[in-house]
Amino acid sequence: MQLFRTVIDLQKFVRTAKKAGKTIGLVPTMGALHEGHASLIKAAAQENDLVIVSDFVNPTQFGPSEDFDAYPRRLAADEKVAEAAGADVLFAPAPSEMYPHKDMTWVEVTGNLTKVLCGRTRPIHFRGVATVCTKLFHLSQADRAYFGLKDAQQTEVLRRMVEDLFIPIQLRIMPIVRESDGLAKSSRNVYLSPKERSAAVILSRSLAHAKESFAAGERDPQKLVDQVTAEIRTEPLSQIDYVELYGLPGLTEVKAPISQRVLLAVAVKFGSTRLIDNVVLEVE
Ligand code: AMP
Repeated sequence: MQLFRTVIDLQKFVRTAKKAGKTIGLVPTMGALHEGHASLIKAAAQENDLVIVSDFVNPTQFGPSEDFDAYPRRLAADEKVAEAAGADVLFAPAPSEMYPHKDMTWVEVTGNLTKVLCGRTRPIHFRGVATVCTKLFHLSQADRAYFGLKDAQQTEVLRRMVEDLFIPIQLRIMPIVRESDGLAKSSRNVYLSPKERSAAVILSRSLAHAKESFAAGERDPQKLVDQVTAEIRTEPLSQIDYVELYGLPGLTEVKAPISQRVLLAVAVKFGSTRLIDNVVLEVE
């Protein structure tokens, strides 16, 4: 596996690969790689000749009071995880490589897609995600890009961006990888104290219970939201940011009775750590 720190080095690699007719899979990440990221890299390695993993804590997707400075950065460990999972290139640029100009071009998906769920408390987040992903899609010239369903709103936003801008790339969305007790793997889990770590299991547990209720025939969106909210509230260390349900694709409003695929998503703080999780409910 090769480590590239500059845009020029990545572009040279991509030019050669494309001339040789190789297909390229891209896995965008912010590093602190775990098994969730590894699952994306493995899928990319299966479906493409070459895999480029980006490892970049993207400053433009963090709000002023968010955890950009504290976000874990562990390039040496990431190199091992990426290589073991089948990456050919790890692209770890400095912010000045990705954002060379102060006055810059933004890519912004407008409307409800970026205003609901995480968009409500993170108003600039998805503009940062869309902008950095556009840059990475162009730099990598990837045939396919791999994202986790853990960030379900992000995948919906990027799907719209790719469609609107006619970007010739296939988005591949992979299932959520979890710890053995159900907690979704996340680079932010390292912030949790032992007590918060135990408490955080309430997210996956409450979503699993909602899935059971749905399977048993519950079709009222508000009742499913209320059930999850009530269960999370039994955990004293939890502070709910949102529990919401939207239609897929497109995060549309859903009325009772539910008659389409829906996303039931939560964001909850434990201490100062904000975690997200979700479940997709499919009507048979
Ligand atoms: P991040 O480094 O957190 O920005 O995540 C990079 C990519 O990995 C995103 O597409 C995430 O959705 C995905 N990802 C993060 N955690 C998981 C997980 N537990 N399971 C599957 N994919 C994940």
